[in-house]
Amino acid sequence: MAKLTHPCPCGNTLEFEQCCGQYISGSATAPTAEALMRSRYTAYTLKDEPYVLATWHTSTRPEKLELAADTATKWIGLEVKRHQQQDDTHAIVEFVAKFKINGRAQRMHEISNFVKEDRKWFYMDGEFDESR
Ligand SMILES: [Zn+2]
Repeated sequence: MAKLTHPCPCGNTLEFEQCCGQYISGSATAPTAEALMRSRYTAYTLKDEPYVLATWHTSTRPEKLELAADTATKWIGLEVKRHQQQDDTHAIVEFVAKFKINGRAQRMHEISNFVKEDRKWFYMDGEFDESR
C-alpha cells in the first residue's frame, strides 16, 4: 500500500495513522458508523478492495468490485453531512463524496445504512439522493 502523507483522505485534520489508517490496518475497530464510513471512503481512495468488502455486511456484500482496474476515478473529497445513531446497532450516515472521472468532476450524495454486529460496524446499503 502506498505510504500516505497527512492529512487523512477522509477530510479529517488528523493524520492518516491516527484516523482511518488504524481501522484499515486492523489495529483498531471503528467506534462509530461515521468512523467506519470515513475509513471506507479512504479505502476507496487507496483502492483497498479487501477492506471495502470486509466492512460490507455479508447480506449485501458484492463478490468483488475490481477497484484496482478502475484507473479513471480519482476521489477528491468527502463531506459527512449527518451521522444519526438510531439505536445501539443501527445508524445512518449521509455524505457527499466528490470524485473525477477522466478529469470530469462528479459528486455522489448518499444516505447509507450501517448495522453493528459483534461490536463491529458494517455498511448495509444506501440510497442515492438524486435531488442535487
Ligand atoms: Zn480519516
